[in-house]
Amino acid sequence: MSNPLQQKEAELYADLIVPAPVPNLYTYSIPDHLKGLVHPGFRVIVRFGKKKIVTAVVAHIHNNPPQVYETKDIMEVLDDEPTMNSFQLRMLHWMQDYYLSTPGEVLNAALPSGLKVHSQSWIQLNSSYSGDYPFSDTEENIIGILQIKLEITFDELAKMAGIKNIFPHIKSLLAKEKIVVFEEVKEKFTPKTIKKIKLSPLYEDQKNLQNLFLTLEKKPQQTDVLLHYLKQVPIQKNSEGLEKKRLVEVTGADSTIRTLVKKEIFEEFEEVVSRFGKISKEKQDLPVLSEHQESARQEIMKLFQNQETVLLHGITGSGKTEIFIHLITQALQSGMQVLYLLPEIALTTQMVVRLKKVFGDKMGIYHSKFSVNERVETWKGIISGRFSFVIGVRSSIFLPFDNLGLIIVDEEHETSYKQQEPAPRYHARDTALVLAKMHGAKTLLASATPSIESYHLCLTGRRGLVTLNKRFGDTPLPEIIISDTRRAKKFKEMHNDFSPMVLGALEECLKNKEQAIIFRNRRGFSPYLTCEECAHVFKCTNCDVSLTYHMHSNNLRCHYCGYREEVAKECHACGSTRIATTGFGTEKIEQDLSLLLPNAKISRMDTDTVRSKNGYEKIIKAFESKETDILIGTQMVSKGFDFGNVSTVAIMDADQMLNFPDFRSFEKTFQLLVQVSGRAGRRDKRGKVIIQSSDPQHRILKKVIDNDYTGLFKEELAERETFLYPPFSRIIKITIRHTDRNLAERAAYKLVNLLRPNLGNHRVLGPEWPIISKIRNYYLINILLKLEKNKVDIPYAKQLIKKETVNLLNEKTFRQIQVIFDVDPV
Ligand code: ADP
Ligand code: ZN
Ligand code: ZN
Repeated sequence: MSNPLQQKEAELYADLIVPAPVPNLYTYSIPDHLKGLVHPGFRVIVRFGKKKIVTAVVAHIHNNPPQVYETKDIMEVLDDEPTMNSFQLRMLHWMQDYYLSTPGEVLNAALPSGLKVHSQSWIQLNSSYSGDYPFSDTEENIIGILQIKLEITFDELAKMAGIKNIFPHIKSLLAKEKIVVFEEVKEKFTPKTIKKIKLSPLYEDQKNLQNLFLTLEKKPQQTDVLLHYLKQVPIQKNSEGLEKKRLVEVTGADSTIRTLVKKEIFEEFEEVVSRFGKISKEKQDLPVLSEHQESARQEIMKLFQNQETVLLHGITGSGKTEIFIHLITQALQSGMQVLYLLPEIALTTQMVVRLKKVFGDKMGIYHSKFSVNERVETWKGIISGRFSFVIGVRSSIFLPFDNLGLIIVDEEHETSYKQQEPAPRYHARDTALVLAKMHGAKTLLASATPSIESYHLCLTGRRGLVTLNKRFGDTPLPEIIISDTRRAKKFKEMHNDFSPMVLGALEECLKNKEQAIIFRNRRGFSPYLTCEECAHVFKCTNCDVSLTYHMHSNNLRCHYCGYREEVAKECHACGSTRIATTGFGTEKIEQDLSLLLPNAKISRMDTDTVRSKNGYEKIIKAFESKETDILIGTQMVSKGFDFGNVSTVAIMDADQMLNFPDFRSFEKTFQLLVQVSGRAGRRDKRGKVIIQSSDPQHRILKKVIDNDYTGLFKEELAERETFLYPPFSRIIKITIRHTDRNLAERAAYKLVNLLRPNLGNHRVLGPEWPIISKIRNYYLINILLKLEKNKVDIPYAKQLIKKETVNLLNEKTFRQIQVIFDVDPV
């Protein structure tokens, strides 16, 4: 073994992470022609199972043949340098362990699909190809096929091209960036373009331009349009052109523009634009920090000398982003990489534009709205050193950083940092802390309403805490008023779902030419149909949930599985025709309000209205430019926006949030109400927030009015301690899933009985059917493990859970049962 000569020999075997939910790594052999070319972190192509061909990632290479199975050869190596570095491989391993997941599940979450090639993946030509590589005959053949078919699967392509082993050619075309791969048809890349106009280059010459004006002397309209163009675009910048829409807007001369194009005076062309709108290249200097911001910054830096993690507790509008900009700049100047994490809904165009102005081309963006090849571009840009700073959502913790100096987790309390589906159900904030530790980087968590868990760690000294209590520019926090809806109902003063107080405030707001936001909590409380005779509720046939009534399309939809049905004329149960809508969603609010305030221009932002292409940007733009007066929305309107003219915020129904059956519901309600309130009165004027509630004395509402985070924290922590909830315990939720209700229940009881002897009866709760116990025809039943941190060895408990699950699944009856783990559910 220790013969030094042998070490020079290239390794014979590679342990691979295969993208399948199998518990282990798989050993493959390295064939002679690939010897020395396979290294950890490289992507390789292998046959997995009988027919499947997949992209796997090398975890280790070695010389020990596996004892139990005969190895298959690696078919092809896709990389010349690692796609995943050693930090990432370690992180994947940690994640798999911590979240009771498998290597393949973790790999699937980590690697963007544009870096995965398998027999069912799709190929298309790269529409932004700009190289001038020579292509082999086979490559030309493949390109020819793609020009006709546009997109095609590997299998099909191999068949059409008549090539047995197509992978070497695909690898070569990928390396030349002539093609891109993607996993599903919906990921196909269609660049977003805008139509632009420029002057024909002929007239960039001064003389020619003068002559042109002479020839147009008798055409005042055309001259006019031309002058408008030249006013907007100096002749040196002619090649950049002007957006056609804008030229039409200012001149109102659509047909004249067309004539000029026909006469070849103007040229029309298309430009690919970023998903985040037009991003100006104008560099901006660092913002000058206020006194409070500067002392917060210094405190953070000081704490970083002894602490790995600092929490910045800064109220809404305190200017946390500007502090981040300073810290990021400092880390970049010392040659290190920076990751700035934001929740999906908070990563807005506004934010990106703001940061791009400061960090320019050094900044990469990683967002789920991005296409496959945009994500690959960010990934590769980090490896090549092009991007040293990335702003991104949850999944950007998987990017190939090799020298992180700072991670910022903004809105750290946001539960959307937790991945729900599929496994691994990881928390990006918690994973970021592990990642930072590996790199020796510092982490700054930030929020106006920190999670109880994070704040608790500060008070026990394990994290630094910096508090920023002043809004930037001393804008006062909004005035918060509770509108008592029970009383209003009793005196029959409600107009539909609006209290007189809310309506009055909206009217006043319109009168002052100011804007308002109306917040309505998300789904689950959406309108549904009931029979007034027998109380029958119209439910989904596949899931245990009521169908949501969509007024606009007049149909019923399941928000879990997408099932749709027409609105029935009579009750399925009793035949009565007295069918009524119950509950109210954003759509109904919009309709009611447009009758109550006929002069207001109202728009609505929820999952329905933003689904259409650019729907989101359009709604925001219209509100920003004051084309709309009132914006009605769900959670989406609560984050990250900075609108100067919003004076009034109305929150429709706090009761439902408070009464949600979850030990975190008070914490979450407080966070949401404070965040939404933060949208009011952000510049020179004090804003007004009205919360409708039937329980105006509720202690949580009182804390919101007083902006009393520490009060909330104390009360919540005491509750958590009494009932042994996090941070005093760790919770692991196990869900058993099967189409047969009875079998699922039996398996759950069995697992409970396997776990109890070792973990203790009181730590294994359930099994219990959840509120929604059937989704897409699968029944779900939960077991909850509550493990006290000071009494239970958690890694040991996790081993035990794994072992007993294997025991359960080894029983013949339960072989088809699915077991889902959720560690630290939120
Ligand atoms: P937070 O994220 O803490 O809620 P923001 O960072 O969005 O607050 O800042 C609130 C507003 O104040 C923004 O419009 C921002 O541009 C402005 N602002 C904050 N700090 C400064 C500064 N130092 N100079 C100029 N404008 C600032
Ligand atoms: Zn009925
Ligand atoms: Zn359904």
